[in-house]
Amino acid sequence: ATHEETLGFQTEVKQLLHLMIHSLYSNREIFLRELISNGADACDKLRYAALDNDALYEGDSELRIEIDHDAEAGTVTVRDNGIGMNRDEVIENLGTIARSGTAEFLKQLSGEQQKDARLIGQFGVGFYSGFIVADDITVRTRKAGSDKAAGVEWHSKGEGEFTVADIEREVHGTEIVLHLKEDAREFADDFRLKSLVRKYSDHIEVPVRMPRVETAKDEDGNDIEGSETTTWETVNEATALWVRPKSEISDDEYKAFYKHVAHDFSDPLTWSHNKVEGKLEYVSLLYVPGRAPFDLYERDGARGVKLYVQRVFIMDDAEQFLPLYLRFIKGVLDTRDLSLNVSRELLQQDPKVEKIKSALTKRALDMLKKLAKDKEAYQTFWNTFGSVLKEGPAEDFANRDKIAGLLRFSTTHTDSATQDQSLADYVSRMKEGQEKIYYIVADGFNAAKSSPHLEIFRKKGIEVLLLHDRIDEWLMSHLDEFEGKRFVDVAKGELDLGDVEDEEEKKAQEETAKAKEDLVKRVKAALGDEVQEVKVTHRLTDSPACVVLPEHEMGFQMRRIMEAAGQ
Ligand code: ADP
Ligand code: MG
Repeated sequence: ATHEETLGFQTEVKQLLHLMIHSLYSNREIFLRELISNGADACDKLRYAALDNDALYEGDSELRIEIDHDAEAGTVTVRDNGIGMNRDEVIENLGTIARSGTAEFLKQLSGEQQKDARLIGQFGVGFYSGFIVADDITVRTRKAGSDKAAGVEWHSKGEGEFTVADIEREVHGTEIVLHLKEDAREFADDFRLKSLVRKYSDHIEVPVRMPRVETAKDEDGNDIEGSETTTWETVNEATALWVRPKSEISDDEYKAFYKHVAHDFSDPLTWSHNKVEGKLEYVSLLYVPGRAPFDLYERDGARGVKLYVQRVFIMDDAEQFLPLYLRFIKGVLDTRDLSLNVSRELLQQDPKVEKIKSALTKRALDMLKKLAKDKEAYQTFWNTFGSVLKEGPAEDFANRDKIAGLLRFSTTHTDSATQDQSLADYVSRMKEGQEKIYYIVADGFNAAKSSPHLEIFRKKGIEVLLLHDRIDEWLMSHLDEFEGKRFVDVAKGELDLGDVEDEEEKKAQEETAKAKEDLVKRVKAALGDEVQEVKVTHRLTDSPACVVLPEHEMGFQMRRIMEAAGQ
């Protein structure tokens, strides 16, 4: 080895390593899934690059992953003949945390949160998970198509630093040798490794092979020395999961595949697997995660599906196939309708992309509708992604009604901050003669719940939606009606309770208004330009006065958003 240098891990990597080793102990077998997953990605990448340049295969186009072990030495080796890495890539990929925002997020975790194994899953722990079971890792790699002298060796004990050196490497691709910790030696075992491969990597299209060593015997049944032959057996199913018929795929397989595509530890809430033939031909497998990624609200956060064209991996996070308000959906799209050398730029111009997007959007919304039948699961979904789905009506006019059906609210019916009531629930409880859906928007649940605007509604037993998310006013400005019932902000304009009011009441109100004309004049004079108008109201039953906005005026929340945006 030459040109050896010792480098420090990025601070956040050190932090992550520490966290991981402590919080994932009971889950440590996942290291194998992560390393196989990386090997499969590397094979995908080579196959894609080789579309333009066959020579990158260096004569070996049979992509594969191999897992080997040595029980005596206590090592496990994971090897692939994928794309490989050059020196700079090794330093970049195996010394830092690449995804933007991750480091920032890590810094913000409190000590208590750091103990939470589920949080760790958010980083896509990946390569570093090797250190949960190993106290020493060596990586040997060479980029496909490069010179034999361009090999690189990376070595670390997972403490503060790693070394990189140039080496000669005959074959391209990557080999990772884990030297197992004393208490993790159980993994250097043929049976154990095989069952882990089946458990986690059956769905991966690249074959995962393990060696079978056979020794010839002499007449007495003794091993003949030096007669060992090794044959490599494929251990996993090695067909892309989404290509297989639905009826043959178990829930566990769907879940394992989700963890692979979404880099998530926890199970998805639900999924939808569809094969479409005809004008458009594609297979889609979409998942609803059970928890939010840390970058859900970041502009450059990861989103979209993994795109394949005729089973060839093209790109991760192809965001063109789903609208922004469904950015939490993860999954795979495999189509024949795009060309293999499609790029992000080309995707933006292709009219077929728009068609697939609209079909996938429908699928995703239908999947959520189905999920809604399971109240508990849907509530988990809503608490996690509800505020993102609320962006929907503004972004996707065509699906406004479908999205409206998926929304959940707090209302005066439950008087609870939990958003768990649908518009259909509200409509089913509407009073006789009530024609509108009433709502109030406030900064927080308590402000909404105790607003004086609700007094008359409470008195008459008319339900009001209590909106208190930042995005709610924006949402309501894009929803006109639900099942023919118009939405009315109770804090705006004249209050018309429709047929719920009777004639006598109306008369009494008019009389009161007349009798109080003097008072109104005096109040108006006292407030001067601060208000547009002063009126006698029958909205209130306990409070003496309240502020009302004109019907078409921007609400308080929107004003604040606009001000914050510098308008
Ligand atoms: P992720 O897979 O989520 O990107 P990892 O920590 O698993 O995160 O891997 C980090 C990066 O290291 C990968 O994105 C890839 O660029 C590189 N890498 C890891 N393993 C391999 C491999 N076997 N072959 C080529 N590149 C790899
Ligand atoms: Mg990975």
